[in-house]
Amino acid sequence: MTPTPASDTAGQARGLFRELTGAGPAGTWSAPGRVNLIGEHTDYNDGFVLPFAIPFRTHVALAPRTDGILRVVSTFDPVPVEVHLTDLDALFPARRDEVPEWARYPLGIAWALLHASGTAAGDVGGADLAFASDVPVGAGLSSSAAIEGATATALADTWGLDLDRVALARAGRTAENEAVGAPTGIMDQMASMLGEADAAIFLDCRTLAAEVVTLGFDAAGLELIVIDTGVKHSHATGGYGERRAACERGAAALDVAALRDVTVADLPRLSERVDDVTFRRVRHVVTENRRVLDTVEVLRDSGPTVIGDLLVASHASMRDDFEISVPELDTAVEAALTAGALGARMTGGGFGGAAIALVSRDGADAVAEAVRTAFDEHGFAAPHIFPVTAGPGAGRDD
Ligand code: ADP
Ligand code: MG
Repeated sequence: MTPTPASDTAGQARGLFRELTGAGPAGTWSAPGRVNLIGEHTDYNDGFVLPFAIPFRTHVALAPRTDGILRVVSTFDPVPVEVHLTDLDALFPARRDEVPEWARYPLGIAWALLHASGTAAGDVGGADLAFASDVPVGAGLSSSAAIEGATATALADTWGLDLDRVALARAGRTAENEAVGAPTGIMDQMASMLGEADAAIFLDCRTLAAEVVTLGFDAAGLELIVIDTGVKHSHATGGYGERRAACERGAAALDVAALRDVTVADLPRLSERVDDVTFRRVRHVVTENRRVLDTVEVLRDSGPTVIGDLLVASHASMRDDFEISVPELDTAVEAALTAGALGARMTGGGFGGAAIALVSRDGADAVAEAVRTAFDEHGFAAPHIFPVTAGPGAGRDD
């Protein structure tokens, strides 16, 4: 399938920076969005995930300031947002509503970085930052982790903060949880920070230990395609919170710290202690953790051609037990499989967003066409379908 043509996003960021300041930036940095190959809603249960960074990135052009002011502007919103660094502690989290929603991400990162590095706001000079991105927003590809990662690497470099990549990912989660107010895990930030070409990041969300696992799609004649349904996960916050609460109830019923500590063998015991809905929520997480471990093993031992059934089982578990799929995602998965995909599943937090399908390179166009036809027959809006490869994580570009 023809890849989406590269757009000059770095150039857009530089152009916006010049509009903001009248001068060129000191440098540009960027960070990618991600696709989660498998391991959904396992991150906040201390479990396992297997995401990879994608070639869509958020770019930031930056120059330091000396007056303690932090100014951000994005192609999403032409109005710059400006704060004094010494005001960040008053804004986050208590008065975050005073900050335009998008700007809570970069300003929240600055706030989280200062705390993580033990740096006083008066000890760094401030900065101007201009953002441009080609990561689809709200499609489950984590444009939020991309803007967080771009900001974190740019500010840490510029301010000389002694923070490693895991610390930068943690700052992303802090910003998203406290400054934005979204109760998300750390998978997205870790994928965006640690991504590598042709590899997924096998992450233990309890220890944050990360291993690079070769995907080998291209070498096996395979392609991974993303089917963006266009259904925005706008209701995600309520549904997400309900799922987290069910997971906590399940862990409490088994007297463990997190569902990571529950195995498939424990499930019969749990069924006597909790209601059916809680049981099914827990069963999804427990079996999904197992599927991540199995996928890593299969990738290492046999390569990507045999992971398809694990992807399909993951989707069924999210549809039937965790109940976070929507008809568009189910249709995408079913049509892709019927048209010959090796595996397919919804990816991301659910309630909308995107599905992925693993397809042979030669069959990719036919699968995409079958999905488009099925959407048309169901009266759904046309999906946006494109291939993704695994690319590098966050870093300085020039
Ligand atoms: P997802 O991460 O799945 O794309 P989220 O709701 O987690 O969806 O994050 C999307 C939000 O992140 C946007 O609504 C916006 O507030 C912010 N955001 C992402 N990228 C940018 C950008 N380049 N400029 C400004 N805001 C951005
Ligand atoms: Mg997000």
